[in-house]
Amino acid sequence: MKSSRFQYHRPSTLCEVMDCLKNLENPRVIAGGQSLVPMLNFRLIEPDHLIDLSGITDLDYIKKSGEEISIGAMTTHRTVEFSEIIRTHLPLMSLAVLSVGHRQIRNRGTIGGSLCHLDPSAEMPLVSMALDAQLVITGVAGVRIVSIEDFCEDMLSPAIEPDEILSEIRFRPWQKGHGWAFTEYARRLGDFAIVAAAALLDFGEDGRISKASLTLGGVGPVPTRITEAEVELVGQRPSEELFARTAKYCAEIEPLDDPFVPGWYRQRLSVKFAQRVLREAWAQSQVGNEH
Ligand code: FAD
Repeated sequence: MKSSRFQYHRPSTLCEVMDCLKNLENPRVIAGGQSLVPMLNFRLIEPDHLIDLSGITDLDYIKKSGEEISIGAMTTHRTVEFSEIIRTHLPLMSLAVLSVGHRQIRNRGTIGGSLCHLDPSAEMPLVSMALDAQLVITGVAGVRIVSIEDFCEDMLSPAIEPDEILSEIRFRPWQKGHGWAFTEYARRLGDFAIVAAAALLDFGEDGRISKASLTLGGVGPVPTRITEAEVELVGQRPSEELFARTAKYCAEIEPLDDPFVPGWYRQRLSVKFAQRVLREAWAQSQVGNEH
């Protein structure tokens, strides 16, 4: 199938994008097109105007200012993959981005497009949830900042209005020496994950866990933080027994269930993966502290 007819626009400034969104009937923005083009061709969406963001070079950057890392929405997965800033300050993202599709998809696909598409299994929303990202939304009515938690409203449905775009994603890196881990299972290399999991652990001088983040992708409609596990982990000394016990909270999520992947299977994987990433994050923190 081919897409329905639309008029193509390629603005070169954010102001021009806002003009398009304000004045055109039934518009849709396109970033890397890796998810949108198939949806257009299947006629799942039929915009009258397609607004190409690829001319907005001002939205393609990775910056560190003070304690904060900012990524422009039009930054490709591939740029994230090779960024020294990301490798140093957001190592979890550096690791997880390698699982985003194939190289060709990472060359074109953007972090902003991934967050706005909001596939339940996508790696960038998962990492953003794990790291408590803040999202800068620029719209005809002005700029607003939302937490990733509020942004992830429902499956494929981010909290963003038709006259707004996501312009920047902000992160507060965890302190040096923290542990991180990511794992996922997909049927074939480059496919979307059936289940993905990420953990971050930080430790006090007494060796006890001082901060914990445990997130699952592909299990619920949006990436899910396992807050009961996080609460239980903090203040404890890391151990296999602790990780096995806290990972069991993952079984309490109502899992996605479809004819290809039954819910019980996602549930079983999520408990296993949670235990694995907690264990690996702990091990990673010890490697980091040796240097
Ligand atoms: P587009 O496809 O251009 O847009 C996606 C949606 O977001 C559209 O609704 C669009 O209107 C909206 N949008 C885009 N940018 C903005 C913005 N700045 N503000 C507001 N709305 C915006 N992704 C994974 O995470 N993991 C995978 O394993 C994976 N595998 C893939 C395998 C294949 C074969 C393909 C084709 C894609 C795969 N993807 C995967 C998707 C890929 O990561 C895309 O990059 C991503 O989903 C969308 O990014 P994009 O820049 O291409 O956005």
